[in-house]
Amino acid sequence: MMGHSHALSGAVGWMALVPVLDGTEVLGITFHMGPGEIIAGALVCAGAALVPDLDHKSATITQTYGILTKTLGAFLNWAFGGHRNGTHSLLFALLMGAIAQGTTLWSEMAAQIFVFLLVGIAFNGLGFGMDKNRTASGVINAMVTAGITLALYSAGTDYTWLGAAVALGCLLHFAGDIATHMGVPLLWPFTGYRVGQNVGFKTDGKVERNVVTPALTIAVVLYGFYLFDWPELLPRT
Ligand SMILES: [Zn+2]
Repeated sequence: MMGHSHALSGAVGWMALVPVLDGTEVLGITFHMGPGEIIAGALVCAGAALVPDLDHKSATITQTYGILTKTLGAFLNWAFGGHRNGTHSLLFALLMGAIAQGTTLWSEMAAQIFVFLLVGIAFNGLGFGMDKNRTASGVINAMVTAGITLALYSAGTDYTWLGAAVALGCLLHFAGDIATHMGVPLLWPFTGYRVGQNVGFKTDGKVERNVVTPALTIAVVLYGFYLFDWPELLPRT
């Protein structure tokens, strides 16, 4: 799938998970989903849904933060055995989730920075005024991202869900690749078998452009309306 489809699937996936996660306890963490958590989670999950393609040097995400993402991408490509290999495994999703969760345990600042980077990746992936003028779009992107991160910070958003959102984003990326012709070696490094190889629709083909991307966009809007009525969004008494 194209970057923007992956990012959209991340946002949709998170919004679909919110009603399930709210009030649930997993590994001693109780999730409380308020507006900040819903918005931040959707953006983080959208950004995380692009992370597995960091191993490809021409992917949108690899270009997001210039030398920073390019170096990271080159490292991941090397460490995980080339494009669409280890970065497309369950192990990678688990690892990314653990790193994300680790930042929340380590320091609030680290978690904020992590969120900031992923939100920026999400906006870039969604095609926020891209291509025409890269510098301007970069500046706008950075400003919007900073504004949102700051708003989330002052709203006292808690990040107990960060690991879950990042792992989910990676898993949704795999689902997207499996849905297209690309196979995904989910059980890497144990086996290189590619799930979903040569089945599904073509990347950026008619199905993706006319069905999948519009459907995901509509889902974002519908979930937005649905969650707007979410009890947690009402002022807490
Ligand atoms: Zn991929």
